[in-house]
Amino acid sequence: MRIDIVTVVPELLESPLSHSIVGRAIAKGIVEIHVHNLRKYGKGPRLQVDDYCYGGDAGMVLMVEPLYQMITDLSAEREYDEIIYMSPDGEVLNQGIANELSLKQNIMLICGHYKGIDHRIREHMVTREISVGDYVLSGGEIPAAIVADSIVRLIPGALTDETSALSDCFQDGMLSAPVYSRPAEFNGWKVPEVLLSGNPKLIRAWQDEQAVERTRALRPGLLDE
Ligand code: SAH
Repeated sequence: MRIDIVTVVPELLESPLSHSIVGRAIAKGIVEIHVHNLRKYGKGPRLQVDDYCYGGDAGMVLMVEPLYQMITDLSAEREYDEIIYMSPDGEVLNQGIANELSLKQNIMLICGHYKGIDHRIREHMVTREISVGDYVLSGGEIPAAIVADSIVRLIPGALTDETSALSDCFQDGMLSAPVYSRPAEFNGWKVPEVLLSGNPKLIRAWQDEQAVERTRALRPGLLDE
């Protein structure tokens, strides 16, 4: 799989994409992630990529031409399954969307900045818009890193124990059971007895029960879905 990210602040994406599971997946060749600086297509001697907003609103807008050129050039090199604009008014990211995107070959993520991007790009080039929640961030870089991380960890081979993604929250529409590690007792706080039993059937039953209980208590809406 290949993910191309278009941004005016590539530095914001360096660290989230170079460590831990995503960093290792790139090193193993499971995924390629390419970050593209929109300024490459900036206009004039100052490589301008943003301009004032028509209508006199405060804030700058990422201009139509550099984005058009960047998307056109990338699309000439390969066919994109989705060209996604990170946007607070997009569909809110969830595990289902991450699962769906993890099956694609080529995805482009476009990060807005300042006031956003010229709407004509959204109308004519973007195929999908994704939000990371009902709040506004300064740029689409952190949302793009979130989308990339949520996808990459689902690609077979990205996690060392593949089944661990399957038992994560939301994967079966429920929250997951609590987890514990050694020691079995700390400060008088005990790990639930059943987890020490060595009986996989009992453990599984306990985990299922916990999942239902926690989902009912914390996210009852998930059970209706
Ligand atoms: N004026 C816009 C917000 C711009 S915020 C509005 O009111 O909708 C600047 C950029 O940050 C956006 O272009 C978008 O790419 C990104 N962004 C901000 N919040 C986001 C969110 N919740 N999800 C995804 N992207 C977001």
